Amino acid sequence: MKAEIFSVGTEILLGEILDSNAKYIAGELANMGIDVFYKTSVGDNEERLLDAINIAYKRADIIISTGGLGPTDDDLTKETFAKYFNKKLVTHKESLENLRAYFVDPDTEMPLSNLKQAELPEGCTVFLNDNGTASGCMIEDNGKIAIILPGPPKECVPMFDKKVKPVLEKFTNKVLVSKSLNLCGIGESDASEQIKELMLQSKNPTIAPYAGNNEMRFRITASGKTKEEATNLLKPTVDKLYTIFKDYIYGEDQDTLESVLVDKLLKNNMTISTAESCTGGLLASTIINVPSVSKVFLNGVISYSNESKIYELNVNKDDLEKYGAVSEQVAIQMADGIRKKSKSTIGISTTGIAGPTGETPEKPVGLVYIAISIEGKETICKKLMLKGDRQKIREKTVHICFSNLLKSI
Ligand code: ATP
Repeated sequence: MKAEIFSVGTEILLGEILDSNAKYIAGELANMGIDVFYKTSVGDNEERLLDAINIAYKRADIIISTGGLGPTDDDLTKETFAKYFNKKLVTHKESLENLRAYFVDPDTEMPLSNLKQAELPEGCTVFLNDNGTASGCMIEDNGKIAIILPGPPKECVPMFDKKVKPVLEKFTNKVLVSKSLNLCGIGESDASEQIKELMLQSKNPTIAPYAGNNEMRFRITASGKTKEEATNLLKPTVDKLYTIFKDYIYGEDQDTLESVLVDKLLKNNMTISTAESCTGGLLASTIINVPSVSKVFLNGVISYSNESKIYELNVNKDDLEKYGAVSEQVAIQMADGIRKKSKSTIGISTTGIAGPTGETPEKPVGLVYIAISIEGKETICKKLMLKGDRQKIREKTVHICFSNLLKSI
């Protein structure tokens, strides 16, 4: 079975955006044993898209296209495929309901032009969009298959994973099973270098590294005739990676650092409170993203001024004057202060210079102290020198707080 990937959109053609959809889909098809010999980029133009479809079906059985499903006149992917297959576009009830759900604000009327996103080629298989307004679809006709997906990667990738893959598996008689191992404290290139040979040799399962925000993951994918066969093939490689990266793997699949941390706090019967200066609430709000957090998170203080550090957290005024707000001494007192004030098992604090202003020769932008105060243990403080803009420095600080805390409890 041969597939061709279409990336539709003038932005792609002009190089204004990277074609990450095609990269992702090509990797997944390779894992499934579906050959991709050509990828096509084509602008929002009916005539050229029809030309490309005609050419592609001479050399492939399936076209998987992304982009051009929006509400405007130049979004014409679906219309052009319908024309090629000689199908009428008809309103699909569930897609219309899904679309309307996006305009629930009573003050916002859904523009009529959006209705076109609920129109799909008659007789097609519909892929409802869980993350946006445009449904995807599959047309099967005369041995030719077209799979038409939305452009934004946050819509296209989950639709491909959840809805298209199971359909493709039926054509290939192969079942794919994947597992992600999530790592922190090591970069993508460093981790990949350590298992370069293993990645080259591993054909089934394959190992693919992905760089994330301040962390990375390996996705291990096996294909087999049954789910059980694929799962069994996966196991030895997963075990091997666990041995090699035992100090860095913090979770699997959908796990995030904060979800793993909250789980561990729950298991250990521990509670946490935060005292934040430079992160300005980001630490608390990231923990609060985890659904079961109410049992472990007690209090969060954004303590920006010196006065607030003294009154809210009991930081010593003389120490503040002597060492400054961005110092080991103050970070430790902030963490101890919030823990005692909130009667929690753990207090964690951040203080630093996130920039771009406020630096001095002794205290440059990127200097951050984090402290972790745990009941019955000596409070630990870490000095960080972080690179990046204000937001990056704040995000990295939060990330490092979580990874250090995970190791400390
Ligand atoms: P929408 O319903 O949002 O209009 P669409 O299905 O019509 O989506 P496009 O309008 O073609 O898709 O693209 C919307 C955005 O999705 C682009 O601006 C771009 O940011 C992203 N995008 C589109 N195609 C790709 C691609 N192949 N790879 C990565 N990103 C893409």
